[in-house]
Amino acid sequence: MTPVEEILALADAQAAVLARVRPLEAETVPLAASAGRFLAEAARAAVDLPPFRSSAMDGYALRSADTPGRLPVVFRIAAGAPADRSLAPGEAMAIATGGVVPEGADAVVQRELVVEQDNAVEVAAPVAAGANVREPGRDVAAGAVVVDSGRRLGAAQIGALAAAGIGEVSCARRPRVAILATGTELREPGSRLRPGEIYESNGAMLTAQLSAAGAEVTRLEPVADDESAHRRALAQGLELDVLVTSGGVSVGPHDLVRGIEAELGVEEVFWRVAVRPGKPVSFGVRGATLVFGLPGNPVSSLVGCELFVKPALAALQGAADPGPRLAAGRLGAAVARNEARDDLLRARSATTETGVVLEPVAGQESHMIVRAAEADALVLVPRGRGELPAGSVVRYLPLD
Ligand code: AMP
Ligand code: MG
Repeated sequence: MTPVEEILALADAQAAVLARVRPLEAETVPLAASAGRFLAEAARAAVDLPPFRSSAMDGYALRSADTPGRLPVVFRIAAGAPADRSLAPGEAMAIATGGVVPEGADAVVQRELVVEQDNAVEVAAPVAAGANVREPGRDVAAGAVVVDSGRRLGAAQIGALAAAGIGEVSCARRPRVAILATGTELREPGSRLRPGEIYESNGAMLTAQLSAAGAEVTRLEPVADDESAHRRALAQGLELDVLVTSGGVSVGPHDLVRGIEAELGVEEVFWRVAVRPGKPVSFGVRGATLVFGLPGNPVSSLVGCELFVKPALAALQGAADPGPRLAAGRLGAAVARNEARDDLLRARSATTETGVVLEPVAGQESHMIVRAAEADALVLVPRGRGELPAGSVVRYLPLD
């Protein structure tokens, strides 16, 4: 029987990584360059929003008490050009959307509902007090939090910050990440392969994953399975915030990564996790540097990066919720469970009226990166006996 107990559970391994992360120091970032960054401090509104009583419609500002009635139009207010005086009883002022509602007016009637003739507006129906008037501070009050610390800045957050008068924000600096592929058999894509060689694919893949997660990536030259080459490259990578290696963490005689890292002062936090693909994954620290050893099979590297490295990068950037954020869906087909390890199946998701349906792709072996490229989801199949029937509710990690 497999000694299940001695291998760390996936959730425990993920927690062990996050427990070792300290957020990086903050820097000031111009708002326009802040997309995808995480706020290190809550950002507060510089002004009330809206900043003044403004009109929600093109129409006429008036006193509700004067309606219905025929009111002379005494001024025309454009956005950015307020009236030069207040509105007196019995008067109306034409007003554009976003215009300042004049003192004395308590409502705006929509242009489409009235008739203007000879500089007077005929208001046939009563207009309610407050109609179409946006009160100041109703979206946010000056000094209140617009976006909280730990939140990632997407389009809506950046729009909100700009609207609230915030031109720059405080964000953790981007993590500097070294990526190192190991393996004597690896050749650059585009070159000619000799017998026994394969293309080095993890470097480009991990660069894409980690850049999208906010990292400043340094790709080191891939190294052969040679101790001194490993030593030089690993020492270089250890100078950055995060070192991610691929390959060389299994039990073969040419798997050198962990041994050399130990020599270089890396304290190993774990090696091997009850997960498939990617069981031999390792994680350690040297000072503040986080050190991830992803197994070389391309799908193992892909999945290991999603499960361990990307959440660590989010936590380094101060994310309140570093993920991975799993969604819920239903299996489109029955799947066998693995007794010893949680499985992350590559699947295609389809959104139906009753929710997301996940179809595992054909070809689930850890070297089958082309099959994985058809997938847009990693379905978590918790370890256990038997199978999960089609229709079972499962959690999955969307892949982008
Ligand atoms: P390893 O983890 O070094 O034992 O490698 C496991 C498998 O993944 C082997 O078949 C390697 O040839 C392959 N492999 C290792 N590194 C890479 C890489 N960077 N790109 C593509 N395949 C790799
Ligand atoms: Mg290898």
